[in-house]
Amino acid sequence: MRERSSVVERDGSYTWFERAKSVIAGGVNSPARSFRAVGGDPPVVMDRGEGAWLIDVDGNRYIDYLAAFGPLILGHSHPQVVEAVRQAMAEGPLLGTPHPSEIRLAEELVRAVQGLEQVRLTTTGTEAVMSAVRLARAFTGRTKVIKFEGAYHGHSDAMLVKAGSGASTIGTADSLGVPQGVTQDVVSLPYNDIERLEEVLSRIGDQVACVLTEPIVGNMGIVNPAPGYLQKMADLTHKAGALLIFDEVITAFRFHYGSAGALLGVIPDLYAMGKIIGGGLPAGAYGGRRDIMDYVAPLGGMFQAGTLAGNPLSSVAGLATLQVLREENPYPRMDRLANDLATALLHLAARHGLVASVNRAGSGFTLFFGTETVQNYTQAQQADAGQFAAFHRLMLNEGVYLAPSRYEAWFVSAQHGPDEIERTVQAADRAMAHIMQG
Ligand SMILES: *Cc1c(COP(=O)(O)O)cnc(C)c1O
Repeated sequence: MRERSSVVERDGSYTWFERAKSVIAGGVNSPARSFRAVGGDPPVVMDRGEGAWLIDVDGNRYIDYLAAFGPLILGHSHPQVVEAVRQAMAEGPLLGTPHPSEIRLAEELVRAVQGLEQVRLTTTGTEAVMSAVRLARAFTGRTKVIKFEGAYHGHSDAMLVKAGSGASTIGTADSLGVPQGVTQDVVSLPYNDIERLEEVLSRIGDQVACVLTEPIVGNMGIVNPAPGYLQKMADLTHKAGALLIFDEVITAFRFHYGSAGALLGVIPDLYAMGKIIGGGLPAGAYGGRRDIMDYVAPLGGMFQAGTLAGNPLSSVAGLATLQVLREENPYPRMDRLANDLATALLHLAARHGLVASVNRAGSGFTLFFGTETVQNYTQAQQADAGQFAAFHRLMLNEGVYLAPSRYEAWFVSAQHGPDEIERTVQAADRAMAHIMQG
């Protein structure tokens, strides 16, 4: 047994973050990495990852449940991924021409993802969703997009629109700088509310290019679709002559070797993917029905491109990751560990007198404090921010790295084992006891 991490000194982190703040906006290259949602301490600056662990610049070790927000299903620095990237690097990281590894990755995606007849590789999930939406508009000749509150679909202008108050179907933006001309074409509805979708489609269905959703939501915490919800959504969408897009940037290959849509028995017209399929390097993909993909340039009139899209490094990292997932099938084991951990956390919460609930899908779950059921964003927002912030800080000092937001998932990787789970449970026991002592 290794010693329990005793996290006391983070002087190196503080020093690095001071440097970061002077030259990087807010000190972070993506706002979700800051600790603003959990009390505003400086974030921990990590030196490296090893399997299921993160090691910070002061040498402190943390069991990692962030998985870099989803991609690292094989944990950090998996030897097969590292070796594939090393070789590809030696052969030239960028060619600017077609090359075999991007074609192999596309073939593997088409083989594994039901309903994916053709694909286009991108560099990020943001681009994958943005392009799928543009394609849906090109194909249908319509402009409106329906999406769901609390879901994150990347940071393109249209995807930063949320619902306006009241019964308005005209969105307002979550971000400054998104023009009104963009927001007026995006409608944001509550997730898991089929009546609302039906009502809106009956009114404006003939203007709707696509209904866009995560089949299992990962970005307001994990939220599973109610039974029958996705099938009904697909039926209503198609009845309106619109396309169904599944944003599977988190969910593709997270729960089984394929899409969450296939797992749930609903196949969309278009998929957007990312994260796991790049094996930790920048990658995204969108695709689906061939008749729709024929609209993409150079065959069709929908333009989309990318200097780094399908680059050799990302392609081989994705291929190596998929190969390990296919050959080793770590899913049942990861699911069992995640279930063990989530169940233990719920028991601990009850024992310490904390109200809490867990939403789990396979190896991902969210622990919500102060609320018993979360099926949509309104309910997710009711989760106790203060308790989560305290828990986050206490767990960090116990050597457990959780995503610094109550709206994120805990991801168990293929490198987590019973030892990590047991240590995490013991840490959570002490953290919850501390919270209840005030
Ligand atoms: C992460 C994420 C994106 C954006 O992907 P990036 O690679 O960060 O641009 C889009 N949709 C979902 C569901 C995501 O989780």
